[in-house]
Amino acid sequence: MVAPSESSPLNDCRWTVIVKGCSIFLSLLMLTGITACRRSLQPARYNVLMITLDTTRADRLGCYGYPLALTPTLDQLAREGTRFEHCRSPIPLTLPSHASMMTGLYPPEHGLRVNGMDVLAPELVTLPMVFSNAGYRCGAFIAATVLDHRHGLNRGCEIYNDHIETPKISSEDYERTGHLPDLTPPMRPGAQVVDDALVWLDTVRDRPFFAWVHLYDPHYPYERHDALPQLRREDPYDEEIAYTDWQVGRLVKWLDRYGLKRKTLIVIVGDHGESLGEHGEATHGLTLYENALHVPFILSGPPRLRSVGPIPTPVGLVDLFPTLLECTGLANHPMAAAQLARSKGRSLFPLLCKKNIPSRSLYAETIHPYHQFGWAPQQALINQDWKLIRSPKMELFDLSRDAHENTNRWNDAEQSRAALNQLRDFEKTLERTPPISQPLASDDIRKLEALGYVAGGQKSISDAYTNEDAWAALFTLRDIKDGLDIARKSFSIRAKIIVNDVGDDVLEQAKTLVKESPETLFFQNLLGCLYLRRNEYDPAIAIFRHTLDINPDYSESINNLAMVYMILQKFTDAEPLLRHEIENSPQSIRAHKSMGYVLLHLGQPAKARDHFEFVLSREPESHGAHKYLGDALLQLGDEAGALAHYTESLRLNPGWMDAALPLAHLLISAHEPQLRDPSRALQIAWQACETTEHHVVEPMTALAAAYAALGRPQKAAEVTELALAVARESTNETAGLALKSDLDRYLRAAAGSEE
Ligand SMILES: [Zn+2]
Repeated sequence: MVAPSESSPLNDCRWTVIVKGCSIFLSLLMLTGITACRRSLQPARYNVLMITLDTTRADRLGCYGYPLALTPTLDQLAREGTRFEHCRSPIPLTLPSHASMMTGLYPPEHGLRVNGMDVLAPELVTLPMVFSNAGYRCGAFIAATVLDHRHGLNRGCEIYNDHIETPKISSEDYERTGHLPDLTPPMRPGAQVVDDALVWLDTVRDRPFFAWVHLYDPHYPYERHDALPQLRREDPYDEEIAYTDWQVGRLVKWLDRYGLKRKTLIVIVGDHGESLGEHGEATHGLTLYENALHVPFILSGPPRLRSVGPIPTPVGLVDLFPTLLECTGLANHPMAAAQLARSKGRSLFPLLCKKNIPSRSLYAETIHPYHQFGWAPQQALINQDWKLIRSPKMELFDLSRDAHENTNRWNDAEQSRAALNQLRDFEKTLERTPPISQPLASDDIRKLEALGYVAGGQKSISDAYTNEDAWAALFTLRDIKDGLDIARKSFSIRAKIIVNDVGDDVLEQAKTLVKESPETLFFQNLLGCLYLRRNEYDPAIAIFRHTLDINPDYSESINNLAMVYMILQKFTDAEPLLRHEIENSPQSIRAHKSMGYVLLHLGQPAKARDHFEFVLSREPESHGAHKYLGDALLQLGDEAGALAHYTESLRLNPGWMDAALPLAHLLISAHEPQLRDPSRALQIAWQACETTEHHVVEPMTALAAAYAALGRPQKAAEVTELALAVARESTNETAGLALKSDLDRYLRAAAGSEE
């Protein structure tokens, strides 16, 4: 027998076959598909460290040929492992894209097709579910709200670390910095995510683990990292990627420290790219050009991967599910069987063994243009040479000669017809899962609004997900290529509304938007919000009403219109709107909050209580719900309950006058003597006066009442005199009259106590 050559993996393969050359073994190999050569990766119980790089274009990493990159860790992982040169995302949106990685299914198949909505269907299996079932410890460390556990990607994870603070958006920030905050996303920096991941990894390093670490820093806005001058890049997007690389390096160092690298499959993958202004799109989500779809994909860790070299075969994110299962010996795990049979993804394991796999087309889509603007969605079918983008204005690109998609070859009739037929045939093979909708908590809506991800209020198209004609009808709407400019303007206007920059010029811009795209309810809603912020309630009502004539279920407009009516104290007008909204979205926290408030003012405290209790069952930290539940309970005669909820409200939002004052009054004048505590009332009222610099009547009145209750009428009278001066200053006559009567009473009491 000839000894195998050390240098040639091919020879090595032959050698394996010769040595193990009995026919039973060979047929077993054929049967199981385990035809790997000895020097290639063998399926094994590897740990999996899966790092998803949000918004990272492949062509901005050093290992993908970008000369200005500072990505030493990723480059080294690519050198030590293997790099897929052409990996495509099936959708340029974070949630659906990650769902495809975790399930091996395309968005129409797993049902999560936009950000901010819907839950993964319960029958679907995710990678962590299979790994945890196979005895792995599974943990996920998430950097942005878009991947919140409510969408179901937490299944199978013993820890799903997704706590992210709401972004602080204030007009003061805008005035100070001049930066519009609409794109200040609710995310946390990679350092925090990796810190948390390392703490957990330390507890599982003796067991097989599957860790998913999500790094979001390259997402807009691109921030500088001045504290790390060594990461300085001219382009801030590159600097964010350099920072991300640095965080990846911390995880790799941890593997090195414990000698785990060779036992760990390190998966580096992007969820989608970033347009960076190319093809008219600033960021991502609306188009399907290569800037948005071509993502990095590197497998590293086990030393045998080193010999594989870069792989030119086009692959997709749907391939991750079967590939990771096969690499870890779980390809035949019963839990995954049904989904593997259904998945259009295929295991790339043969490529890691230097075997070819037949070429295949990749699919991509985005429905975001419809959801946000009422415009046509896009679909793409990509193979080695060409790429079809289906939209009202069709595009066909020859990627082999035109990588940047500059020349539309749709005029090539034969090629175009063939491509379109292929797309149609492909669509027929999709086994669709209808989305399971779940409204988000109000807090999450706020977080998503900051990202520009809240649906624009167009009518639901869930029927189009399963009905061919309804789907085809969407492609008669405005082409996104003709809308990108308008879209950009709308983002700037929304940002200005958030920071209360609602001057006449902004109003004119919003009116122009509505004129340019009257089919976009989102623009009409923006205009309505602008009127609302300008305290111009009649035009606000008219425009919200108009949007509801077109789509009676448009949540944003229902809630905004109800808000106008609440401001105008027209509670009977607000009530039926909110009832309709709660019928549509029984879980809508925002609608329940407003409904409770409305019922409280309609003299129905018992019903109001039910709504606030619902809100608190979902959002126990809602200081507003605690305060208004306190009001409802007080009206129902439950003083102890009211006291508890006012107290909790104030604890959650220290210094909030709306909770502090009723609490102080209750502590002074509760009917149940054991609830009274004027000393505490004094403390609260004093704090409220300090906060308002002794220039607001109400806290001063409460302070005076607390002094009086403590048997100090002289002090009460002094405070009341000061309050009277404030009332006179602000020509508040009603308050003035009440204060005078208070003052008389305190003075009489003071005179009496002196006697
Ligand atoms: Zn993303």
